[in-house]
Amino acid sequence: MSGSLHTSSSVGIEGKEAAPAKQHCEHQAECLKKIQAILDGGASEEEKAHFLQNINVCMPCIEMYALEKCIKEALQGKVEKKCCPEKVAAAIRAQIAS
Ligand SMILES: [Zn+2]
Repeated sequence: MSGSLHTSSSVGIEGKEAAPAKQHCEHQAECLKKIQAILDGGASEEEKAHFLQNINVCMPCIEMYALEKCIKEALQGKVEKKCCPEKVAAAIRAQIAS
């Protein structure tokens, strides 16, 4: 009974586990361009995969990606009721108006 209280103080570099994603993006314009390139099919599989990994830590871009995707699908006429229609409708109106 050699009281080895081995408290593994594994305080790594990532001390904050309650912050999985950033709440705002400092590269939002860049991200939007990439999102549109991906949705337009102008991005390679590699770029796509890399980007999708990156937006996983970027809340606004996850939402923006989902929204852009819905808008594109809605504009193409294949609307599925899986995404918030009001939000998408508003975004479509905004895009058409601009
Ligand atoms: Zn971003």
